[in-house]
Amino acid sequence: MSRIQTLPKHAVYEGNLVLVNARHPLHPGYHMSFAPVCGRSDMLLQRSAWVLLNALMDAIDGWGKIFPVSAWRSQQEQEAIWEHSIKDNGLDFTKRYVAQPGCSEHQTGLAIDLGLNSEHIDFIRPDFPDAGICAQFRKNAARYGFIERYPKGKETVTGIAHEPWHFRFVGTPHAQIMTQLELTLEEYIAFLHTYSPSHPYRLVFGTNNLTLFYLPAEEQADTPFPFGSRQCHTVSGDNCGGFIVTQWEISR
Ligand SMILES: [Zn+2]
Repeated sequence: MSRIQTLPKHAVYEGNLVLVNARHPLHPGYHMSFAPVCGRSDMLLQRSAWVLLNALMDAIDGWGKIFPVSAWRSQQEQEAIWEHSIKDNGLDFTKRYVAQPGCSEHQTGLAIDLGLNSEHIDFIRPDFPDAGICAQFRKNAARYGFIERYPKGKETVTGIAHEPWHFRFVGTPHAQIMTQLELTLEEYIAFLHTYSPSHPYRLVFGTNNLTLFYLPAEEQADTPFPFGSRQCHTVSGDNCGGFIVTQWEISR
C-alpha cells in the first residue's frame, strides 16, 4: 500500500523548474538556499545551481577564462538596474534586455550571466561568443542542468531579446530534453502541461526509463501525492499553478 503524501501550497513556487517572466512574477515567499559563486559574498546562487555550475566549469577548466557577471539579485537590485538602464539606455532597450523588477529570473538564484574574461566586461550584455571556451561551456551545459534561456528566434515566446550570456539552471533530465527538443522554458512547461499521471511523457534517459507529468495544485488545500511506491521521483513547482513530477523507474 502506498502512503499518500501531500505537496504544500507554497511548493508551487519552489523548485528548479519555476517559470519566472513578465506574466509569472516570482512569489514573495520564494525560498533561497544561498551559496557564494567562487567564494564571493556579492555573487550568490541557489546551492544546487552553484554545485553543478562549478562541476561544469571544472570539467572544461573554465574559471578564469569565463567570468561570472551577475547571479542572484534582490528586488531592490533589480529595481536599481531597471532604473539605471532606463536612464542610460532608454526604455526601449531596457524592456528588451532587462526584466521588470519581480519578473527577473535572476531573483530566483537559478540564473547567471557569464562573460568571456577581458579587461572591459559589459554588465548588461557581456560577450559570450559561440567559439573557444564559451562554445565548450555551451556544448556541455545541458549535461549539468543548464540551458541558454533566451535563444535567438524565440524572442516572442520569452519576451526577452537573444541573450547568449544568460544561463538558467533547470536540472537534469530537463535541460537535455529542452535542448534536444529546442524548447524554451515557457514552451517546455506548456508541453508538460499536456501530460497527466495517467498519460505521462515517457522517455529513455541513459539506462533509465523516465516518466514526466503535470499535477495541477489544489486551489485551497495541499495537493495529494499518491505516487512513489515503486519509483524515485523529483517534484518541482512551475510557478504557474502546479507541479512537474519526474519519475525514474527502478530497474530490477
Ligand atoms: Zn541575465
